[in-house]
Amino acid sequence: MSTKQLFSVAIDGPCGAGKSTIARALARQAGALYLDTGAMYRAVGLAALRQDIPLSNEAAVTRLCDELQVDVRYEAGEQHIYLGDEDVSEQIRAPEISAAASRVSAYPGVRRRLVDMQRAIGRGCSIVMDGRDIGTKVLPDATLKIYLLADPAVRARRRYLELQQKGLPDTYEMVYQALLARDHDDMTRAASPLARAEDAIELDTTHLNLEESVSRALELLSHRLEGRI
Ligand code: C5P
Repeated sequence: MSTKQLFSVAIDGPCGAGKSTIARALARQAGALYLDTGAMYRAVGLAALRQDIPLSNEAAVTRLCDELQVDVRYEAGEQHIYLGDEDVSEQIRAPEISAAASRVSAYPGVRRRLVDMQRAIGRGCSIVMDGRDIGTKVLPDATLKIYLLADPAVRARRRYLELQQKGLPDTYEMVYQALLARDHDDMTRAASPLARAEDAIELDTTHLNLEESVSRALELLSHRLEGRI
């Protein structure tokens, strides 16, 4: 697909629906920058755990986030996330960091700073962003909004296989329960809960493989840019 027109794509949905894999592939094929916003909340969660800041202490977590040197850099086209000079892109993928990210992301002060950074990264370029509040809050005027979903058991299996490949010991049942808990917390928090934007197009990946999901997303984007939908 080639277009000179700048565009933005917001991809939201629960964990394990395939957001980051699909968003990354869509960005590459459509010639846009990709921003995984979850990585930013994960970096704040990691920093809080490292500094022994209780995740229940909103004021302390918010202060930490305000003072934190968190940075998104692109190296060979791939997003890396830094705390100061340290590349923490691998460390933020641990299951305990998923839970910590979900806790710190409930705080409005944390969201305010990260949303400002996300909008600044997306300014003046074509971008595909994935997260929980991209269509509802970060990019309310996005060219295209996709709400990705999939059956929870299918999502848990995908996450479980990912963790197994990394040699992590979590059982399927642990992954399934953690995923349900995180979905529940993300959907019920007061600040920017996970929700489908009214104008988002739903894409259910339960029975789709990665290739099929990406080509469906690409098709939606080209139809939108051509004014067909
Ligand atoms: O997408 P990922 O699973 O990496 O996100 C980790 C956590 O960060 C989510 O469970 C969610 O609580 C939070 N998050 C968010 N808003 C975003 C992206 C992620 O609240 N835009």
